[in-house]
Amino acid sequence: MNIAPQKVEVDADVLIIGGGLAGLMSAIEAARIVRNVVLVTKGLAGKSGNTIMSRNGMAAVLEEGYDGDSVEKHVEDTVKAGKQINNINMVEVFAKTACEAIKRLVDLGVPFLMENGSLLRKGSPGHSCKRFLTVDSSAVRSPQTKGLALTLPLVREVVRLGVRVVEGVLMTDVLKHEDQVVGARGLDRKKEKIWVFRTSSVILACGGAGGVYFLSTNSADVTGDGYALALRAGAGLRDMEFVQFHPAVALGPPRMVMSTAPFADGAVLRNKYGERYMVHYSPDMEMATRDVMARANFNEINAGRGTEQVSVYMDFTAIPEEVMSKNYSDLYSCLKGRQVIEVAPAMHFMMGGVAVDGMGRTDIDGLYAAGETAGGLHGANRLAGNALTEAAVFGMIAGRDAAQRAKRIKAVPKVISDRPLFGQNNGTKGSTLNVSEIRKTVRKIMGKKVALVRNGAELEEAVSVIKDFKKQLFNSNIRDWNELLEHCQLFMMLDVGEAIAEAALKRKESLGAHYREED
Ligand SMILES: Cc1cc2nc3c(=O)[nH]c(=O)nc-3n(C[C@H](O)[C@H](O)[C@H](O)COP(=O)(O)OP(=O)(O)OC[C@H]3O[C@@H](n4cnc5c(N)ncnc54)[C@H](O)[C@@H]3O)c2cc1C
Repeated sequence: MNIAPQKVEVDADVLIIGGGLAGLMSAIEAARIVRNVVLVTKGLAGKSGNTIMSRNGMAAVLEEGYDGDSVEKHVEDTVKAGKQINNINMVEVFAKTACEAIKRLVDLGVPFLMENGSLLRKGSPGHSCKRFLTVDSSAVRSPQTKGLALTLPLVREVVRLGVRVVEGVLMTDVLKHEDQVVGARGLDRKKEKIWVFRTSSVILACGGAGGVYFLSTNSADVTGDGYALALRAGAGLRDMEFVQFHPAVALGPPRMVMSTAPFADGAVLRNKYGERYMVHYSPDMEMATRDVMARANFNEINAGRGTEQVSVYMDFTAIPEEVMSKNYSDLYSCLKGRQVIEVAPAMHFMMGGVAVDGMGRTDIDGLYAAGETAGGLHGANRLAGNALTEAAVFGMIAGRDAAQRAKRIKAVPKVISDRPLFGQNNGTKGSTLNVSEIRKTVRKIMGKKVALVRNGAELEEAVSVIKDFKKQLFNSNIRDWNELLEHCQLFMMLDVGEAIAEAALKRKESLGAHYREED
């Protein structure tokens, strides 16, 4: 490899990796306590990751007694959905702090839908009381980026507080000295530049892992890096086998995450023979829960009853046009007169992640995780609205704790940053690999063998293919900066794919979102 990158060294009290809701909240809270806070993201702060793609639903108990609700009930509902394997300490902290986090968002200028002078609270499946709030995104034009209503006010605060924002840097590893965090390192995506951050406290807020799967609802930059960074630093992961799939993503163009609401108005699912197959999967037909429907769609496709595009049909014929145009105006305009579209299940959310305590601390001194990167809150399955609230709550808590820690640490040892970069053996030997081909193959394997219905043989096959790719990648030749970036990114994806497949292999029984068929 003939690259001599420039090295940029930056000191920080707290370093936050990720510019979504968790990262922005961490930065804001940390900057209220210490002066030198740096937020680094491989995209743009507040304009990358899954937060901007979200539907803006947030679950929180704002007032004890409203609709009979209480913090205890939010805890109970979350643990029930998670099949009792949640980190109970996290759940309690989460439910108790949710109201404070929402108030903080309101103070920062995030608009919520209102009713009679209060935040509008609705019911939602799995929540026993009305506690589902919605960020008002009416000012955002594109239906794909409604979450900007949530992030943009936070970006303004980050700037106002003087947080240094570094964009377009792929962070590749957390640096340690004698089991303590001393910094982190990343590669500039545009210039041949290595960024080395010297800090005692790093918060991983890199989101989930949609990019590890062939089809996902996630933003393209969400590729599981937070899990890979934690693994490489020696921190533990948990619950990685629990991956939530969305039942129906329209393959497009445009690619759309379909709401399940039209099923209540008469939309139905059909296979390539025109058969309304949900009759074989649930007495509730298309009103079945999302995981039952996702598995049914997956089964139909796998059994060869899907379309040529590896999908099934969502048929709106029974819904009167005036209902479509009134109730589903965004969808109606995208359909452009079509009554049937092709949809497929897609990876949506990671329940598992980096193991943390109720303060967002991992088992490595100085390393934190927040938002979708952290694992434990949701257990085996997630309730709607709990993910955004999680990012706000634990972003806030981790930001504060990391800043307090930074104040206590007098000096950070010098960063040793000359060890080989993530996943490459100095890049001087071996053959040149077709990285994009490997990426495609791995995503397909994850989408087929580590997806909605799993069995031991296929999981073992997935693990073995991934291990083999890792070996090849480690010994491959890297010719230029772009290839180095691609190798590092792919290596992280392979680590995460392997972690998910290994965890799924270990859990022999079906539980929550993890479904094992007979081996
Ligand atoms: C279509 C869709 C709809 C959803 N709707 C809802 C909803 O209504 N309610 C709800 O509760 N949840 C919802 N979710 C889930 C929720 O949006 C996410 O869990 C949440 O936004 C995650 O926030 P985050 O800050 O943890 O990560 P993200 O918002 O994903 O941000 C991750 C950040 O990390 C950066 N990053 C990643 N890797 C690196 C790296 N190596 N180096 C530097 N930077 C890196 C990214 O560029 C990005 O800035 C939805 C998800 C999707 C996909």
